[in-house]
Amino acid sequence: MRRIVLTGFRGTGKTGIGSILASRLNLPFIDTDDLIESGTGRSIPDIFHYEGEERFRSIEREVIAALPAADVVISTGGGVVCDPKNMEYLRSDSTIVLLTADIDTIEQRLVKKPRPPLTGLPLREEIASMMDRRRRNYYASADFCMDTSETSPLQAAEKILARLHEGVPTTGQRNTALAFFRTGRIPPVPFKKLVDILVGSEKDPTTRIMGVAGYPCAHSKSPRLFNTLFDLYDLNYHYTWFEDPELDEIMDVARAIDAKGLSVTIPFKHDIIQYLDEIDEHAAQEIGAVNTVVFACGTAIGYNTDWLGVRKPLISMKGAKAVLLGAGGVAAGAAYALKDLDMDVTILNRTPENAQKLAERFGCAWGTWDKFDGIKPDLVVNATPLGMQPDTRNPLREDQLYKELTVFDLVYTPPLTPLIEAARAKGCRTISGTEMFVEQAREQFYLFFGIDVPAEKVREFIG
Ligand code: NAP
Repeated sequence: MRRIVLTGFRGTGKTGIGSILASRLNLPFIDTDDLIESGTGRSIPDIFHYEGEERFRSIEREVIAALPAADVVISTGGGVVCDPKNMEYLRSDSTIVLLTADIDTIEQRLVKKPRPPLTGLPLREEIASMMDRRRRNYYASADFCMDTSETSPLQAAEKILARLHEGVPTTGQRNTALAFFRTGRIPPVPFKKLVDILVGSEKDPTTRIMGVAGYPCAHSKSPRLFNTLFDLYDLNYHYTWFEDPELDEIMDVARAIDAKGLSVTIPFKHDIIQYLDEIDEHAAQEIGAVNTVVFACGTAIGYNTDWLGVRKPLISMKGAKAVLLGAGGVAAGAAYALKDLDMDVTILNRTPENAQKLAERFGCAWGTWDKFDGIKPDLVVNATPLGMQPDTRNPLREDQLYKELTVFDLVYTPPLTPLIEAARAKGCRTISGTEMFVEQAREQFYLFFGIDVPAEKVREFIG
């Protein structure tokens, strides 16, 4: 049996519910805070007071790394979810239940168990600010959520046991989902696995399904990548293609089977916003596109990780003079990333009106491609499809490339594009579109599961 791990803020009932679950399942119960106190011979308030939070977190990390691998119920401290290493250990071969409660309930429960504040704020404000700060980490930790505001520990434990036993999709929902997936152009081998998970031999009520939403998206590399990472980290998930021209349909199926999340690709990155309860400040207000949706505790939250995929490989080029080729969806995230790195950006595009529109949103200069020669940039970013198979055209002439230029081609099929080849021949520093894919995928994985995947692992898997 998988381990059962309880996460959540202080006062959500982890210890009480965990010990009931353990006795009902006839398993040992471990409270990581108790292990820390018995291991150090100090109370947690004392460790915070005399050694500081950093020391406490390091002891907590050691305790979590040494937890038994199977057949146990574990209750964790409120802050464990913020450390990706903890999440890697806790998530392995486990079902994680996130316990939640409203702020009034938590305050009432905590008034009875005083602890020194972590923030110096009065209790209620501390709860509000820390819950807000940790909320996305809590959601990433959750295989499923249980609100304990109105339930006794016994009732909450009963509900958790029922959920572990039955899962969420009913037989009807599984069959509807299957009918939906059958209409997509999904390659046969992973599809067989999906059928097994939904209605066949591998059916397990706690297996969660997620995937990439787009039309078309059968070419997406994400299913292979995510399923390989699920095996690597021992996660009970399966990632598939939600390929359909109707976003309504996709969202209905995702909700019906209680999907953990979706990667979102063309043509839905903008339209998905209307289906979400929240969007992060980068995706919503600035870029206007969402490529990641996390479902947790009844909410759907949208993020954009594309811009981080452009930003990360360019961190060392803060303040550079940059030209961005293209003014479409990916260019919007790229423009945001370049401006975030304080670059002096000119957007050049085939259709000048589109360049102008994007440039005005982000405070960039703009023009058509013929302006390139007068700019002498340090960096050029290609956000057009030129060079993407089967179109092998190079967006720049060879005489426009020089050794001091850094060339970032966001096209990643093929990994070695005509632009990258020509730039290398001229001695330029080059960054391939695979790097954007790698970084945005790592960020997605973190938002979905709270785990930091090393970049080399992602590169290895996408080949
Ligand atoms: P998009 O919204 O369709 O925008 C395409 C842009 O390229 C537009 O500005 C368009 O100009 C311009 N363009 C298209 N064909 C052109 C041509 N023949 N000559 C000159 N300009 C042309 O596409 P997108 O979603 O932004 O995607 C752009 C590229 O990014 C994709 O093709 C893909 O290769 C790459 N991408 C990479 C990753 C990654 O992870 N590395 C992820 C997603 C996408 P107009 O305004 O004149 O139409």
